[in-house]
Amino acid sequence: MITLSGKEFAATIREDVTERAAKLAADGTPPRLAVVTATDDEASAWYVRSIAKAAAKVGITCDVVDLGSTATGPDVAEALTALSVDGAVHGVILQTPLPAGLSVADLAGTIAVRKDVDGSNPTSLGRLAAGLPAFAPATAAAVVALLDHHEVPLDGKHVVVVGRSVVVGKPVAHLLLDRNATVTVCHSRTADLAAVTTTADVVVAAVGKPGLIKAEHVAEGAVVVDVGTNATADGGLVGDVDPAVAEKAGSLTPVPGGVGPVTTALLLRHTVEAAETVQAVPGRRRQPSWRR
Ligand code: NAP
Repeated sequence: MITLSGKEFAATIREDVTERAAKLAADGTPPRLAVVTATDDEASAWYVRSIAKAAAKVGITCDVVDLGSTATGPDVAEALTALSVDGAVHGVILQTPLPAGLSVADLAGTIAVRKDVDGSNPTSLGRLAAGLPAFAPATAAAVVALLDHHEVPLDGKHVVVVGRSVVVGKPVAHLLLDRNATVTVCHSRTADLAAVTTTADVVVAAVGKPGLIKAEHVAEGAVVVDVGTNATADGGLVGDVDPAVAEKAGSLTPVPGGVGPVTTALLLRHTVEAAETVQAVPGRRRQPSWRR
């Protein structure tokens, strides 16, 4: 079984981003990312700190706009709108969870599409589905980029995506279709999951349930991408794929160290791409990476 690690690949992406960020800064457009939060959730705060740290390391300034857990919908919309028109800010992320009753989809709709580096604005997903340039959610982009990096063929292959969220399942299905894969999307109401997943050349598990994908769900020699990040009681991290799958799969992404590091690296790459787009000569706009 081959381990499809994301660590070394993420490091090469960060190297490229570091060079591009330095060039942008030298040319008078220092890349800047803003993360809007409205929660006391400790896991979310940890994630935001890790993004800010990763951004600083590659030369991207990351502003955290903390609105507090009592923020209202208009507070969040106002912050996102202000950042969307701020010429010094190139990427805008709306961190979840939001206070009860607030809709991520509605509020993320106020992020300018050209700054929507984590593909949260529903318009970005619509553009992706229509084959138009847009940033895909970084996790969805990371799945395809990691498969490409390890030279896993997608053209004409049957890929089964387990999970249909707007953050991972749906956008990854569109990206895979774009790569000429035959894509099946499963979810909690899929009648016989194993009957579908065992027909796959590639299984992408994006559910959030530890051990959901067992050896019986996977064909001998299949490629398995584990997107799941589930916290364990002892502070560790496990995916959605049962360890026994390693005995049957041809290759498997590890958790941690697979999709996760590539996701963060791509978020940073999207930010420099957004800054480069601003800088580009009008009429010669650079295309986001997923279209190149
Ligand atoms: P989500 O919004 O909760 O969606 C989960 C999906 O799984 C839903 O579509 C759900 O189906 C489906 N599902 C639930 N139980 C199922 C079952 N028994 N069989 C088949 N499908 C089932 O989660 P998400 O945001 O997509 O995240 C999924 C996982 O990826 C989580 O572990 C999350 O932490 C992880 N994640 C990782 C990264 C990263 O950077 N590595 C980034 C984002 C998310 P229904 O639609 O029918 O409810």
